[in-house]
Amino acid sequence: MDQPIICDRLLMIERLSGGGREIAKAVQTATPTVRVLFGPSLRRTIATEIRLIGATRALVLSTPQQSNAALEIAELLGPLAAGVFCKAEMHTPVHVTEAAMAHVAETRADCLVAIGGGSTIGLGKAIAYRTDLPQIAIPTTYAGSEATPILGQSEGGLKTILCDPSVLPEVILYDPELVMTLPISMTVTSALNAMAHAAEALYATNQTTGTTLMAIDGLTAFVDGLPKVISDPTDLPAREATQRGAWACGTVLGQVGMALHHKICHTLGGSFSLPHAQTHAILLPHAIAYNAKAAAAELQPICDLLGGQNAGLALHDFAKQMNAPLALRDLGLRESDLNRAAELATSKPYPNPRPVTREKIHALLQAAWAGDTPIT
Ligand code: NAD
Repeated sequence: MDQPIICDRLLMIERLSGGGREIAKAVQTATPTVRVLFGPSLRRTIATEIRLIGATRALVLSTPQQSNAALEIAELLGPLAAGVFCKAEMHTPVHVTEAAMAHVAETRADCLVAIGGGSTIGLGKAIAYRTDLPQIAIPTTYAGSEATPILGQSEGGLKTILCDPSVLPEVILYDPELVMTLPISMTVTSALNAMAHAAEALYATNQTTGTTLMAIDGLTAFVDGLPKVISDPTDLPAREATQRGAWACGTVLGQVGMALHHKICHTLGGSFSLPHAQTHAILLPHAIAYNAKAAAAELQPICDLLGGQNAGLALHDFAKQMNAPLALRDLGLRESDLNRAAELATSKPYPNPRPVTREKIHALLQAAWAGDTPIT
């Protein structure tokens, strides 16, 4: 998983970069229309949504841990449900996708409903990539995969990433009642995962005014909403506000290239099997502190939102206030793994505001491993 995330769509935009009008046209013609809805109990409209896309046989997807949520959707669908497949796993293993594909064939499904976090939505995207079946995503975390044309898949210890607009779900239903069951620890790490997309969008090489405004919207939603959700996990308006933030953060993730932070997280997830959201949560303040001086103007919105002079330190303080995990060693990474992690994270680096060296990234990882204050 060493290649930078580059969309065909973004390549097209780069090729047309001579004039603003042409850029806008390229975005419009290449972006499929996605129906995005927010609101309590939205999942109960699932049968209507299936009919709207012209389908009659939905295969419902989830992880084993969320099989009850999948069964509820199947029950709501009644005769429109063709089957339920509850074996989604993190990092979208190809063998799971192949098992799900057999289920698609057996059930003669003509559309997919993915209810869950990035793992389940990733499975839906992997099936859609192979079959072009329409998808309805019902996200239950803040990871934001439903809003991106990016698909990561793992096989034989390797994770590869592709970018294809065809994997974007046709419909996204954000039902805040579903995210209410997300444990507080996962709520915090998943929120920081979403904020990481927006933070790196601020200094992306192909950033635009639109993506920056959207990134600031996403960050603001979490800075305002997360403390409310933590103090009352059943606060539906606050949960819905954070879901709007997740959509904004996921959308910018799909529109611009990511940098050092995502490169390190992809390395630690892909090669050391560290859990996705927790790894993002721990590394975000360190990666942003690393880039804070080189991209001070771009990162200023984070200082404006959180206070302070250094966006990385401001995020570190915010993460501590939210009781986020701070140390990679608590995720099971060994200190002896840091050399290899630094090596992998600096080979084929993603474009980054500050030049990346193995020694400096090793020092960054050492601080993140120990749970120290980020190096500035
Ligand atoms: P996840 O989907 O793996 O969920 C983590 C665990 O929490 C699972 O057991 C899940 O069933 C459970 N869970 C989810 N929502 C819940 C809820 N509301 N209540 C109770 N339990 C709930 O975690 P994630 O962080 O959302 O997704 C991580 C995966 O998504 C990784 O594979 C990552 O690579 C991928 N991802 C992809 C993109 C993309 O654009 N392609 C973006 C972000 C993440």
